Amino acid sequence: MQDDQNPILTLRDVKTYFPVKAGIFKRTVAHVKAVDGVSLDIYRGEVLGLVGESGCGKTTLGKTILRLVEATDGDITYSSKNEKTNLAGLNNEEMLPFRKRLQIVFQDPHSSLNPAFTIFGSLQDPLKKYGIKSRKERRKIIGDLLESVNMRREYMDRYPHEFSGGQRQRIGIARALSVEPELIVCDEAVSALDVSIQAQVLQLLMKLKNERNLTYLFITHDLSVTEYICDRIAVMYLGRIVELCRAEELYSNTLHPYTEALLSAIPVADLDKQTKRIVLEGDVPSPVNPPSGCPFHPRCHKAIDVCKTQVPDLKSYNANGAEHFASCHLIDLPETT
Ligand code: SF4
Repeated sequence: MQDDQNPILTLRDVKTYFPVKAGIFKRTVAHVKAVDGVSLDIYRGEVLGLVGESGCGKTTLGKTILRLVEATDGDITYSSKNEKTNLAGLNNEEMLPFRKRLQIVFQDPHSSLNPAFTIFGSLQDPLKKYGIKSRKERRKIIGDLLESVNMRREYMDRYPHEFSGGQRQRIGIARALSVEPELIVCDEAVSALDVSIQAQVLQLLMKLKNERNLTYLFITHDLSVTEYICDRIAVMYLGRIVELCRAEELYSNTLHPYTEALLSAIPVADLDKQTKRIVLEGDVPSPVNPPSGCPFHPRCHKAIDVCKTQVPDLKSYNANGAEHFASCHLIDLPETT
C-alpha cells in the first residue's frame, strides 16, 4: 500500500543530457536530451509504472535516479524518517549508503551475473562490500535469499548458464534484495520472458514487495503488464512525462493522445472491448533535435495548429477524486457539440 504523504524519492526538473561530439577536437556540437525536465514523487510502498516506447528516456531516468548516470540538472531527493538528501549533489563516497537502499533489476540478468562465477560468487560481492565478513554467514544469507525467490539454496554453487531465463531473473532479484534495499528499479524486468514465466516473476515481485515493504519503479514498454501491478503510471515521451495518474484512472479516463495510442495497441481477449487501433507513424524523433511545440505533434492523430508552436504544460486535473496530470492543449479547449 502506498503512503501518499511520504515520498521516498522526489524528482524536481531532472535533466540528463549526453554531449554529441564532432570534429578533430571533439567539440560538443549538440546534446541528446534523454531526460528533459522530469518532476515526480515516488511514494513509499507504491509500484509506480514508467511506460513509453523504446528511446523515450525511461531507462535513462531509472539509471539517473540511482546515479548510474549523472543528472545534468535538477534535484533527486531521498527522504527517510529523519533525513532528506539530494542525491544529485553527493560524491561517490557520500553516495555509498544510498546505493544500498536503491537497487536495480535489469532486463538481462546476464549483465549482473558474471558467467565465470557461481551464483554464490556473484551474490557475495555486495554482501562483502557492505561488511558481511564471514563466508559462512554470506552462504547462509545467499541460501535464504534463493529460497525467498523460490529456488533451492544449493543452486548457489551452480553457474548462470545452468539456469533458464526465468530462473536467472529470479537470481537477479535475489541479488538486488541481498543488501535489503527500500526501492528497486525494475528495468524491463519481465520483458524478455515467456508470458507464463512473466506471470510467475510478477507474482514473486509482488510477494516480496509485501513481505519487505518495498517500493518499485517498474519500467516497461508493455502497458498490459502495468495494469495489474502498478498503483500509479507515468507515461513518458521524448524525455518528458506526458501523463501521470492512478493506474485504473489511466485505463478508464485517458487524457493524452499518446497514451491513447499505446493503450489501443494492447490485445484484448474480448473482441467487444477491443478499441480501434491507433497506429503511431514513424519512430520517436531524435532527442538531439526534438520537434517544436508539443514534441508529439508530428505523430499525433489529434494535433491542431497550436501544437506546432507551443509546448503544453504538465497540468493537474482532478478526476474521480484523485490527481491526474497530463500535458495536452486539447484538454483545455472548450468542448464543442
Ligand atoms: Fe497531440 Fe497537440 Fe495534445 Fe500534443 S498537444 S498530444 S500534438 S493534441
